[in-house]
Amino acid sequence: MNSRQAIFLLAVFGALAVALVSLYVLGGQQSQMQDGKVSVVATFYPLAYMAQEIGGDHVLVRSLIPYNTEVHSWQPSVSDMIALTNAELIVLNGAGLEPWFNEKVLPSLNLSRTVVLDTTEGLELLALGEGEPEAYEHDHGGEYDPHTWISPYMAGKQAERIYSALVEVDPSHSEYYKARWDTLKAKLDSLDARYQQELANKSRSEIIVSHGAYGYLCSRYGFEQRSVIGLTADKQPSVQELRALVDFMVEHNISVLYVDPAYSPSYINTLKGELESQTGMAVKILKLYLALGPVDGKDYLDQLASNLENLESGLLAG
Ligand SMILES: [Zn+2]
Repeated sequence: MNSRQAIFLLAVFGALAVALVSLYVLGGQQSQMQDGKVSVVATFYPLAYMAQEIGGDHVLVRSLIPYNTEVHSWQPSVSDMIALTNAELIVLNGAGLEPWFNEKVLPSLNLSRTVVLDTTEGLELLALGEGEPEAYEHDHGGEYDPHTWISPYMAGKQAERIYSALVEVDPSHSEYYKARWDTLKAKLDSLDARYQQELANKSRSEIIVSHGAYGYLCSRYGFEQRSVIGLTADKQPSVQELRALVDFMVEHNISVLYVDPAYSPSYINTLKGELESQTGMAVKILKLYLALGPVDGKDYLDQLASNLENLESGLLAG
């Protein structure tokens, strides 16, 4: 960096610091003025959904990461930093999904009046690559598979933490939160039971997916995933790797490919084309939602239920 660049950067950071300090002062007044509702900032859709389901009329929930966008490489803007400053409760996924929180938010914001909840802290987490037979290289700092929310079982544990945090922040409405948490818990428990029952008779044990985000489904319900773009969604597969996947599918008689609408289907389409021309069989592409936002008219829980149906199509097929 030369000295002109250094001066420019200093000026930018200086202006940012002034903006943040003045917004912090304003923010202190604002958070008292939201009709008595608890201001909750969740990092992304599934956590915002849970907070809204449990908090109902007594919370004002904001999701930081826009719906249906890539979560692994996201970075907060200045307006996101303001929202974080004003929050009474910040809800994180944890498990390495939000490296920017420790890197950027904690050092630059005073969150002394804010409850910061890491919803996966202390939960039994999978190591990176544990859901896949071959560990993929990744350049992210994390050591865990962060995609906990896709499993109704893990999601139940995370939602329970959100319930407890809401009671801590706003004890005067604890009975209201309890009733709503009981309702959400019943839905998640019933989904978990359905996954167990309906996948118990599966005739296959592998799925082929674009982004390897389904490790927590694999480990709980007893199958494996092979992915095209890896666990952090930033891998470019080589021709050899794509060929190896095609060979694997031929060998295991697999004719279903899974993709989430948030990611490009281009590699999956390549695989489908290769496989169909090699074997002559029709290959189906089915959706396996990452639940990063409402899509196809389905909310978070609808998407988890739809995932079960599509997994049955791939794993129970003869
Ligand atoms: Zn992911």
